[in-house]
Amino acid sequence: MTQKKPTKKVAVLTTEDPIKETLAHAVERVTADLEHPESSGLITVPNPILRKKSTLVTKVTPAVRKLADEMIDYMLEHKNDPVAPVSISAPQFGKNIQLVVFYRNYMFKERSGIETIINPVLSKLRKYHIIRETCLSIPGRAFYVRRARYAKITGQNLDGNSRAYKGNEIEAQVFQHEVDHLNGILIDESGEMVPRGV
Ligand SMILES: [Zn+2]
Repeated sequence: MTQKKPTKKVAVLTTEDPIKETLAHAVERVTADLEHPESSGLITVPNPILRKKSTLVTKVTPAVRKLADEMIDYMLEHKNDPVAPVSISAPQFGKNIQLVVFYRNYMFKERSGIETIINPVLSKLRKYHIIRETCLSIPGRAFYVRRARYAKITGQNLDGNSRAYKGNEIEAQVFQHEVDHLNGILIDESGEMVPRGV
């Protein structure tokens, strides 16, 4: 992919003291990391970040918005791929925070049709079945996973407003798949691998 990495600010030093100079560099670097965490782009197994639980988003910083934008850009850049993304979670972009982006309508793959939700919680799961599923972070493999055919997801958008979505079939599957990601659960653990060629 062609993701542009942000340029870090260069420290302006006002001292010749090597210790102060080192500290100034360190402070500058930490500040830059907090303000502009560099996303590594899409990560895949066996990256251990994918197996970690993600933390709640307590404050929507510019870094959180930037990460969401990168995830959305990725969705749109790859919308015509043979295996196109329909949703992405933050851990798949190397950040263990509870943030998910997904298409509200899979027939309308445009920026305005992508929803962003933080701290999502699943409810009203019903009508379970076993269904084939794939994951961007496990390329080239498919798994049979037990999913509810109906699910509701509640959380907040990036402006802090409450959001709730109800989904059937693939939408419900997406909600469950992404919340699993936030809990560090991948389909290679929760499902059964589909034999190649099936
Ligand atoms: Zn996935």
